[in-house]
Amino acid sequence: MNSSTLNSNAEQTIDSEEARDLRNTLLYAGIITIGLSVMILATSPLVISLQIPPMETTLLALCSAIVSVLGIYGLQRGWPIKAISWTSLTAYAIIITMTIHYTGGPLTPMPALYLLVVVAASFLLGRQGATIIAFVSVVSYALMLLLEYLGVIKMVLIWDITFEPQTRGALLIINWLAVAIPTLITSQLAGVLAERLKETNAELIESERMQNSLTHMIIHDLRNPITAVTGSLDLLLMTLGDKMNGDQRNLLKNAQHSGKMLLGLVGELLDINKMEAGKFELHLEPVNICKLVAQNTEAMRAAAELEGQNLEITACSTETVINCDPQLISRVISNLLTNAFKYTPEGGAITAKVEREGEEVVISVIDTGPGIPPKYRDHIFEKFGQVKQDGPRQGTGLGLTLCKMAARAHGGDIWVESEVGKGSTFAFSLPIVGPSDAKVEF
Ligand code: ADP
Repeated sequence: MNSSTLNSNAEQTIDSEEARDLRNTLLYAGIITIGLSVMILATSPLVISLQIPPMETTLLALCSAIVSVLGIYGLQRGWPIKAISWTSLTAYAIIITMTIHYTGGPLTPMPALYLLVVVAASFLLGRQGATIIAFVSVVSYALMLLLEYLGVIKMVLIWDITFEPQTRGALLIINWLAVAIPTLITSQLAGVLAERLKETNAELIESERMQNSLTHMIIHDLRNPITAVTGSLDLLLMTLGDKMNGDQRNLLKNAQHSGKMLLGLVGELLDINKMEAGKFELHLEPVNICKLVAQNTEAMRAAAELEGQNLEITACSTETVINCDPQLISRVISNLLTNAFKYTPEGGAITAKVEREGEEVVISVIDTGPGIPPKYRDHIFEKFGQVKQDGPRQGTGLGLTLCKMAARAHGGDIWVESEVGKGSTFAFSLPIVGPSDAKVEF
């Protein structure tokens, strides 16, 4: 037997946010560089006075696009996020410096691109990372100006400007300062902002975690007194039920029914709460899914016959063995069957079906009940989501939430197809190989 814990903890949330931020940065960087390159290619033949070399700038745009594609590829292959962030941001800073050189050196507004890189660095690598990337940018820019000044690399003059030799050095220093100061200041401001945002995020996650554990404690403590109340009512009915008159017995039965509903609600809330906190353990084992569905349908048959409903199980291949938590999946099947009985009027038909579809099985419960109006079809899978109806509520609105979490925890999904007045089909899928932690998502 194998067990796996559902992970939706704070760390994972932060991790996936980092991955999302990095993916966005890589995408935007790719789009910006390709856009700039297209712009240069399109304008250089038109604007005669611009002498930007299209070949070199296009090659640099290509390099930047390769960095983006490699980064996104690495992200998908699970390479360390920090390593991808450091490498790609350093590469962008150097590519920007070379682009600045080929688009006119100190004469272009291209150094503004450094600001974008340091802002991205502050969110991906924190304040320290942003400072280092800002230094890489301004040092590489200084090196470029120095090499241009010494004549090691030829300055690309995009305008007809000539520098007086006596003032050339001073002008280049002023130019460097005009680029370096805003870049370094931006790295600090953006770094502070990113750190504050991270702190606020972590505080929010912590307060949500505390709220969850408080709710968990309250619900847990409710279970014992409710069990005592329902147990006493059972005993009272068993021992003194005969001596009571009809009204008294009905009152007691109502109290017993409500107590059991409350106990069910507490149990479901506890499990949902555990799953949300990532503390619910799946006990995985090979399970014959057809047998499991048949056991659950058999358990309901007597009640179905009493209510005059026809219960069937069809299209079941006994070969299909899947890796799942049998207790949890039993609860999903039983919840769906109970709902079908609860909402289908007398004389209706309920069918349970198991089908193999590629690498997964799909279990469906089909009824001839009232159906679900389209606007409620997503809402009923949310906590306390119910179809609005006249008269007293029939349930808690938590059963389908638990079903959805259980299916997703196994790497599957749940959905409903329905026609108002004709009936509903609730179906959920489960991968045959079983769940992997990475797939767990709520
Ligand atoms: P509960 O049944 O305890 O209210 P569920 O989460 O199991 O909670 O179901 C949510 C709502 O979805 C129900 O209140 C009901 O309005 C609707 N529903 C569920 N199953 C069916 C069904 N088979 N036919 C019609 N409506 C249904």
